[in-house]
Amino acid sequence: MSFLPQEIIRRKRDGEVLSDAELRFFAAGIGDGSIGEGQIAAFAMAVFFRGLCMDERVALTLAMRDSGDVLCWDELGLDGPILDKHSTGGVGDVVSLMLGPLLAACGAYVPMISGRGLGHTGGTLDKLESIPGYDVTPDNATFRRALQQAGVAIIGQTGRLAPADARFYATRDVTATVESIDLITASILSKKLAAGLDALVMDVKVGDGAFMPTYAASQELAQSIADVATGAGTPTTALLTDMNQCLARSAGNALEVAEAVEFLSGGGREGRLGEVTMALCAEVMQTGGLAATADEAHAALAAALDSGRAAEAFGRMVAELGGPSDFVERPNNYLPTAPVTLEVFAQRDGVVVGVATRDLGMCVVRLGGGRTNAGQGIDHAVGLAEVAGIGDAVSAERPLAVVHARDEAAAARAAAGLLAAFEVGDADPDVGSVVYERITPNIST
Ligand code: URA
Repeated sequence: MSFLPQEIIRRKRDGEVLSDAELRFFAAGIGDGSIGEGQIAAFAMAVFFRGLCMDERVALTLAMRDSGDVLCWDELGLDGPILDKHSTGGVGDVVSLMLGPLLAACGAYVPMISGRGLGHTGGTLDKLESIPGYDVTPDNATFRRALQQAGVAIIGQTGRLAPADARFYATRDVTATVESIDLITASILSKKLAAGLDALVMDVKVGDGAFMPTYAASQELAQSIADVATGAGTPTTALLTDMNQCLARSAGNALEVAEAVEFLSGGGREGRLGEVTMALCAEVMQTGGLAATADEAHAALAAALDSGRAAEAFGRMVAELGGPSDFVERPNNYLPTAPVTLEVFAQRDGVVVGVATRDLGMCVVRLGGGRTNAGQGIDHAVGLAEVAGIGDAVSAERPLAVVHARDEAAAARAAAGLLAAFEVGDADPDVGSVVYERITPNIST
């Protein structure tokens, strides 16, 4: 059916509810270039002010998803559900590298389409590219073979997945319309649902290092995503998790990969990173039918780690996608290291009571571990290790963090940034659970 774009914009501007056919027409026009940038901008602003009802959000999400390829796994005859996780991003958030292999070791298949670092947050693709030979843009046959063989394949977005979103987002980015929960929902889910999932879990971060500015906004986004994804046929729940400090003990691409491999190989199970990863896995295992209860999921996850099956899945994924076949056994033989390391000590002994997490992320960007311009190359070796968490005692023996830098000057700049980012006090702060809240959909599939 053909419509006039300006009539669709006018109707939304006036607060009317758009039909499925109108939204499909508009999304297709964004995707194929027949709708111009001015009209996309006007539409985005109309939605920003007027909003979309639930039916409109589901329709726009599905229409944007269908603007490109939608992956289908039926012909592979896989013997488990297709599961995935999406995160709004953070600092030291290397959950995907652990969650994918863990789910694979528990019987799921995880075709994860990931992104690059954005602003102060790290990106899964950048982390994986620390591994020599790992191809984040394999051809379709290699992607499918990796999924079949390893149970998990983490790769980058191709131009053929939800192309309407790429164009829509680029216009939103320059027209002050990114901050619409309705549009964020459609944007995130159009890409995720194009991967042909049976179930999804969403990790919505809360706090200083989070994409959403307030707890209430994070809650609203989590509810919107759970409802819209479920309404679009992919059962989804969400967890609100803490991003008021670095999630891992490190922040920086190769350093985080090393930490993920250590976890999968049996180390570092006690920390906040492990807690978030296991909680997200347990969540999507229940939604996807791999476990009846959270306890059952946690038992299966512990067995996947103890038996070495999760580490094996990661190793197989790396090998299938072009990396070294013994990467998991010998990560230090392959991961790049920075020539300069510098322990940064607080100016007084005490306890970490607060972390400016966004600034911590920007320290990594300034070291060269993230981008200041889209398309820029990054330094995979640099970053922060042994990052102190809230409640940790720091002293002349225990640093705030260890800077890994390309040269002395960069290390000194990062040290100054770190000193400003950490608040050290005397009182023991209240360190609560890293998982704040579980959000379930208000509608059913
Ligand atoms: N991430 C996305 O993919 N889309 C948005 O709109 C915002 C964040």
